[in-house]
Amino acid sequence: MIKFLDLQKINAQYAAELKQVAADVIDSGWFLMGNQLANFEKQFAAFNNVKHAIGVANGLDALRLILKAYIDLGIMREDDEVIVPANTYIASLLAISDNRLVPVLVEPNEKSFNLDLDLIEKHITPKTKAIMVVHLYGQICWSEQLSELAKKYNLKIIEDNAQAIGAVWNGIKSGSLGDAAGFSFYPSKNLGALGDAGAVTTNDDALATQIRTLGNYGSKQKYINEYKGLNSRLDEIQAGFLSVKLKYIDAENQYRRQIAERYLTEIKNPLIQLPFPVNTSYIIAENQEHLWHLFVVRTNNREALQNYLVDNGIQTIIHYPTPPNKQLAYKELNNVDYPITNIIHDQVLSLPISPTLTNEEVSHIITTLNRYHL
Ligand SMILES: *Cc1c(COP(=O)(O)O)cnc(C)c1O
Repeated sequence: MIKFLDLQKINAQYAAELKQVAADVIDSGWFLMGNQLANFEKQFAAFNNVKHAIGVANGLDALRLILKAYIDLGIMREDDEVIVPANTYIASLLAISDNRLVPVLVEPNEKSFNLDLDLIEKHITPKTKAIMVVHLYGQICWSEQLSELAKKYNLKIIEDNAQAIGAVWNGIKSGSLGDAAGFSFYPSKNLGALGDAGAVTTNDDALATQIRTLGNYGSKQKYINEYKGLNSRLDEIQAGFLSVKLKYIDAENQYRRQIAERYLTEIKNPLIQLPFPVNTSYIIAENQEHLWHLFVVRTNNREALQNYLVDNGIQTIIHYPTPPNKQLAYKELNNVDYPITNIIHDQVLSLPISPTLTNEEVSHIITTLNRYHL
């Protein structure tokens, strides 16, 4: 069976270095807020071309802390609205709701799967304080008009960059496009820790200081608590693992692009709709806006395709089977209709795409898909 993602194999490539880090941390006897974290934060800020990178416990906390910090800084307050794509992973919404802010769901573009930027303006009200763009499946969601719109209405732009670490828009790294960005290093993300981890990036000094403080019990100095904070820290051992894996992220992302290039040019089956990268040039070197965290196709009879692939030794996953507005957690949104989001959720299927997939496996996936019929 070709696994959707083989985490054992991915991390085995770096096992010697990872084991050395683990040994170093154990030997040091220092497990939180030490040199491993400081080094990783410095490397990660440089990688994203930003002033500040702050390690936190996970991706959801990264987004939660950004919004919480804006509230403390007086930039947002309870009941303010944050625009967010309706088809995102639910964590984007949870970060908003958890801060007693209101998620305002906006439909995606059916082709890019990303927030439809043309629909944003009509959702802006006097309570709107931010737009959370999600670079879904690894493709950057950005335009010059978006930053102009944010300026015009004095809105913050927060990037949910859990899925697009290392992507580049017009020479600018994702994670440095907006006012602040949240990253997840959940093991299956492109930069995966060996457990939970996350980070915030920003060029805003005040925001960075506030997030650091909030992630450490609202305290800058031990036992002096200025704010009602959380405990959300990135462990030394995970920071060390991430420093190892950061060295290989660009090469891994490039390999993903090569697989995507093959899928885009070699899968030819009218029953399977391929993704449309916004930059339609399929030349990988120019196609930096998408780094293919996921390769998502659409099909009308998804169950049949998924079963057929399993029968042929290929595992696939659905991202995501149910949109946030249809979850019990968001009862208040259960009766709002998002037709494009619904179509996407009914049709999407993610093919294996990972840095350890072999050329033969990619060929097998392509020929299998090309042979598929109902
Ligand atoms: C993974 C993910 C998150 C949450 O990250 P965790 O580290 O799992 O908390 C948030 N948003 C998106 C789009 C994600 O894919």
